[in-house]
Amino acid sequence: MNESVVKSESYSCGACGGTVHFDPDTQNLKCEYCSSITEFTPPEIEIEAYDLEAGLEQCNTDWKQESRVIHCDSCGAETVLEGRNTSQSCAFCDSPHVSDIDSQPGIKPESLIPFQLCEAKAKQSFKKWIKGKFFADTKAKSAHRMDNIKGVYVPYWVFDTDTTTSYKGKRGKRVRTGSGKNRRTSTRWTNVSGVYEKNFRNVNICGSDQIKKMGLSEKMEYKFEELKGYSPVYLSGFVAEKYIRGVEDSWEICKNKIKKAIVSGIKRQIGGDRQQVTSMKTQYENTKYKHVLCPIFVSVYKYKDKEYPFIVNGQSGKIEGKYPLSVPKVIGAVVVALIVISLLIWQSS
Ligand SMILES: [Zn+2]
Ligand SMILES: [Zn+2]
Repeated sequence: MNESVVKSESYSCGACGGTVHFDPDTQNLKCEYCSSITEFTPPEIEIEAYDLEAGLEQCNTDWKQESRVIHCDSCGAETVLEGRNTSQSCAFCDSPHVSDIDSQPGIKPESLIPFQLCEAKAKQSFKKWIKGKFFADTKAKSAHRMDNIKGVYVPYWVFDTDTTTSYKGKRGKRVRTGSGKNRRTSTRWTNVSGVYEKNFRNVNICGSDQIKKMGLSEKMEYKFEELKGYSPVYLSGFVAEKYIRGVEDSWEICKNKIKKAIVSGIKRQIGGDRQQVTSMKTQYENTKYKHVLCPIFVSVYKYKDKEYPFIVNGQSGKIEGKYPLSVPKVIGAVVVALIVISLLIWQSS
């Protein structure tokens, strides 16, 4: 079995006996009290992708032995804590009303992307981001109060699949007829059919709705080449969100997502000036999935008693968030746009 055994002594500092947490800067364990570094050797796990056809039986559901599930009474978020970790508040809404519940944490992730950024760097990344926002209120740029920023591993289902699509459609060619005032442009259509093949790799579907509930897009980009075999050590100092969407439902979402890519691929293959796809049938082969944890920092930015949620990608430092708009700047931009438009109309008349 690919069990990663973490010895209990690796959770306390060799120098002072204090609690140690995973440290993104060194990718080792760092003491909370004396900052000593305890070396952590990542487990040697070959990261397997499971066959979707074969079902869930192959998966390891035995995550409960080394973790606990925490429920937030305020926002409903369910997070998984590494057994020794403690949590005083919810990672998503900061509510202190959290409690241990007797629930299965679900399929154990076999791999994850470790945090590459520490909290301080995530905050710096946010400051840079808000500074670069032209339409943000200038005062907001200097008045951020990020009381709390928390690292959370978000569950993703990552799919690989090879697709073959047979399709029928139409190719449109623009033709000009007549001359002078009788000149017309029309489209001449010819029927086409064909087969379009495309292999998809690492298509990721978020297994939870918590980020969406914050009003943010969950389409964070990750470099999946940097996946590491799961070890509870990576979770020390962080929490993992429990997935609410299983692999079957996520596969349905994934198919919809790749359908868009297939349709645009078919249109490129059809060529011409305009294209129509009238029917298509896709076959999926070698479909495999991985249950992966991806790192984000979650925080809320307060400005004039209003809250603006934001998240920081724990691997790349990219930000997804809301920010207070500067009303004069927005009005100014609209006025400029209106002037430009009326000048253009005036010139062409
Ligand atoms: Zn120490
Ligand atoms: Zn909450």
